[in-house]
Amino acid sequence: MNKYSSRGMYQNSWIVSTQQEIKGKIEHNYFCQCSHSFRFSTTFDTTDAPDVLCPLCGNDYFINSNEFGLKDGVRIWKDFHWEIEVGETADRWSVTLFYTIALYNAQSNTIIPVKQNLLTLEFDKEGKYDLGITYHSNIVSRYSLFQNGRVKPLSSLLLDDAKEQLINHILNNRVEALAWINRSNIESLSYKQRFEYIRFFLKNNYLQEHRFFFWKMEGLEKVFTKTVTQKEALQYIANEKTERIVKKALYRGYEESMQKIGYYYPYSDYIFSRIIKNVDLLANLYALHPAIKQNLFTSNTLSVAIELLRFLKRYYTEKQIVNLFTRNIQDEDTYRERLLLFRDTLNLLDARNAIASLEKHFMKIKLTTKKLHDEIIRIFHIVSYELDAKEEFEYDPIYLSACQEYEGLEFRLPLTARELSLWAKMLHNCMFGYIKRIHQHKSIIYGIFKDKELLYAIELNGFNIVQPRFCNRNKNFSHNIIK
Ligand SMILES: [Zn+2]
Repeated sequence: MNKYSSRGMYQNSWIVSTQQEIKGKIEHNYFCQCSHSFRFSTTFDTTDAPDVLCPLCGNDYFINSNEFGLKDGVRIWKDFHWEIEVGETADRWSVTLFYTIALYNAQSNTIIPVKQNLLTLEFDKEGKYDLGITYHSNIVSRYSLFQNGRVKPLSSLLLDDAKEQLINHILNNRVEALAWINRSNIESLSYKQRFEYIRFFLKNNYLQEHRFFFWKMEGLEKVFTKTVTQKEALQYIANEKTERIVKKALYRGYEESMQKIGYYYPYSDYIFSRIIKNVDLLANLYALHPAIKQNLFTSNTLSVAIELLRFLKRYYTEKQIVNLFTRNIQDEDTYRERLLLFRDTLNLLDARNAIASLEKHFMKIKLTTKKLHDEIIRIFHIVSYELDAKEEFEYDPIYLSACQEYEGLEFRLPLTARELSLWAKMLHNCMFGYIKRIHQHKSIIYGIFKDKELLYAIELNGFNIVQPRFCNRNKNFSHNIIK
């Protein structure tokens, strides 16, 4: 707007009046902004420079350079133009507004152009500091300009122009952190907001998403007892991980959460960040649907969940653990049931303080919520019947003698509680309640195998088969076991 495309060396038109004592005259030198210059002389009794038009361009507004900028001079200027100079160093961008005045130099007895700076704006490339403003001339604060029928302080005109130019300069010479910015997105923002916007993305150079600038982290205030900034909170949740992919996934997950469920639930991200080291896998977990994330963990199961997942890492790869939450749980039809199982697993572990039992009894299973839950239940039964102390079953010889093959079916007695629990697992059933009864000789369970594969189990009470209790649901129950 005010940037004047200078056709000559001057942005404004000047008159420099010099006394020619010998001739008894005053010489008025006109330097028009169109770059044409000419002169008139007057005698000492008419010292004022005559009002003239530039014979070349018709301009009639010349500023008297002898009076220009003097405190008691004209406070409101009809017209004034300036130019802009952009600068860039390794760590900052800058713009300087300046004008060039024509001044008489007594030493050389010539009129020379002198560049005068008005103000400089600086902006650091890491977004560390506020916009830096340096005023070089008192002209900026003292004068006003008559423009479009209104008087406007020169300072606000200059500042607005400098800010506009600086933002253009920054966006024209983009660093990587700003390369994605769409100018039309920020045009409606005030200058103050635009600088905040640029600063935000310089500081958080992993974000690169317009909407992030407008987010507020109300949800996190409930989680952290002391006041923390949005950045601190996410930094904490991300476990100080600074990789761009991690930060971006975290913010995106946050955004999705605010959109879909109206708040952000940080426990899942917090736990994941402490378990999964691979940043791509971690980003996958951050990208889980918020409805799943908010149901996986609670503040109560926070520590036991971390313990469990750390324990599982001894048996499984990070990818397998991530699959437990992604592939396994992220199923539209079954996710509710699977979430309940997973939460139940955590609650069980938490209630019984049972990680030590896992260490002792855990057997590697295919990592799904269902199988993990079953395995934890199996371990609890072992633990709750104190089978650590009494592991082996003792049988009456008559029962042992029945362990034979009949018509291709092999009858076996479980020798240890561990074996029985393995059968239970294979048959997808729960025989744990019988561990105690077997020890107390109140119950006998035979496993029935065909070609070394467990087909089902039967319970004997005395010499009568009570019923085929435990049947592998995956097998056809086609054998007539009661003869
Ligand atoms: Zn002219």
